[in-house]
Amino acid sequence: MLFKEFAEFCSVIEKISSTLELAARIAAFIKGIEDDNDLYNVVLFLMGKVYPPWDERELGVGVGLIYEALRVATGTNRSKIEELIKETGDLGIAAEKLLQTKTQLTLFEEELTVAKVREVFDTMSSLTGEGSQKRKIRLLADLYFSATPIEARYLTRLILSEMRLGVGEGIVRDAIARAWGIEEALVERAYMITNDFGKVAVVAKNEGKEGLEKMKIELHVPVRMMLAQVAESIDQAIREMSRVAVEWKFDGTRVQVHWGNGKVTIYSRRLENVTRALPEIVEEIKSNVKEGVILDGEVVAMKEGRPMPFQHILRRFRRKYEVSKMMEKIPIHAQFFDILYCDGKEVIDLPLEERRKLLESVVRSSDRIWVAKQVVTSDAAVIEQVYNEALNAGHEGAMLKNPKSPYIPGKRGKHWLKLKPVMETLDLVVIGGEWGEGKRSHVISSYEIACLDPTTGKLLPVGKVATGFTDEELEEFTELFRPLIEYEEGKKIVLQPKYVFEVAYQEIQKSPKYESGYALRFPRFVRLREDKDVGEADTIDRVARLYESQFKGKKT
Ligand code: ATP
Repeated sequence: MLFKEFAEFCSVIEKISSTLELAARIAAFIKGIEDDNDLYNVVLFLMGKVYPPWDERELGVGVGLIYEALRVATGTNRSKIEELIKETGDLGIAAEKLLQTKTQLTLFEEELTVAKVREVFDTMSSLTGEGSQKRKIRLLADLYFSATPIEARYLTRLILSEMRLGVGEGIVRDAIARAWGIEEALVERAYMITNDFGKVAVVAKNEGKEGLEKMKIELHVPVRMMLAQVAESIDQAIREMSRVAVEWKFDGTRVQVHWGNGKVTIYSRRLENVTRALPEIVEEIKSNVKEGVILDGEVVAMKEGRPMPFQHILRRFRRKYEVSKMMEKIPIHAQFFDILYCDGKEVIDLPLEERRKLLESVVRSSDRIWVAKQVVTSDAAVIEQVYNEALNAGHEGAMLKNPKSPYIPGKRGKHWLKLKPVMETLDLVVIGGEWGEGKRSHVISSYEIACLDPTTGKLLPVGKVATGFTDEELEEFTELFRPLIEYEEGKKIVLQPKYVFEVAYQEIQKSPKYESGYALRFPRFVRLREDKDVGEADTIDRVARLYESQFKGKKT
């Protein structure tokens, strides 16, 4: 398939705002793709992805490299490129305009295909070490050289993972369902266990409904994790579940462990492969857990008998390659609370109480890994006791689970309730910022934050957060965000969305000032949620619900 066809399709759907129409158009488009590889690539590309989240490969192309490649490909100097970006506010459009000046030159170039773009991306992501930046610039410049202006627009956006098409997971799911006449729920399930819409689309096309039904959890392919809702009260949990399985809500970080075919792979909550950051857990699993399982649990860092702040574990994730030094500094252990796969079979449809038995039979406790303690009860006083024990031990609270419930990948539902003392914070995507004044002029001192519309994938601003940061954090974040700066306008910065901040606030107000329609009053930075992806940020629905709940509280 020609990349031009893909780019032209993108330019058509970019103007469509109705989600129904978008899904219908995408359905018709993908249905017409004959080649499996083209279909795979197009589905991922439409979502602004080159690889599924769990694939360790990444392009490693930042904004700076794009500037360079455009300079090489078009012979335009850097200040002109920067000017154009400021003028358009969009790197994709800027690239398109730059290419318009050289169209005649490209008439004799070979036309770009989707397969060629994929091939170049794969080559780029395999390059490491010395000289790799230069080669990437060359490869990218060559792509721009063969690209037409419209292709350059979407090529750039694809590299930045920002297609601006309003195509989120929900729309892709509906489009696949519609294209091959399959129930949405079935497409959704296949996605939750493979985390790869490209693969789901190919199976749907070739094998239809039966093919999707046959898709099973596989070792070393991560499964979306089951999540929890906030418990209204202990009584509500007892009313709904009658018997409640109570566990501590550990203050650590979620891990999914795959142990089979001689190797251990550990995935984070955002389904990144973090095996290398946890060598001591890997060893412990190999010697104490029966091979051929997928376990769900939490890694906790301890110091003097208490959990260390969450940030310390995540720091290890970030520096996955400097692990041995960190190992001595941060002693960690893992507690497992669920099992998804055992002896070559998925076990997610078994009720929790049976999965628990299975879990206990495959894990031999050691001083680094064990099965999380669980109490099953209908007595509110017992639940309260476990909850207080957890808080006294420095953990977050308690999880209340339905012993009869299956494990539903990716689901945030009533089977798992979390009981926590603090006011609800919001996890919001950082989309922009502003340089500080005076002494702070070298750091980004305020950040624009946005919630997510999960259907369209759009990020809707809800305010700016400028308090709650230590000076150290401001310095650290400035370095973290610097490579993500798309362009600047005076003190204002537009950032490529990549990180999520947890933000506290005093109140949510309605506001026409922001696209979301809401504004946070007195927002305060709590922490960087390195374990959360942009796609896992809080949604506009949650903001709306929290807004409404403020009034409920007042009335009573
Ligand atoms: P939070 O900020 O409260 O952790 P979240 O959005 O990250 O919220 P939730 O679905 O609300 O995630 O809560 C589930 C999280 O709690 C899990 O992802 C896991 O990291 C953590 N957790 C700690 N102990 C447990 C447990 N016993 N069972 C399940 N999850 C647990």
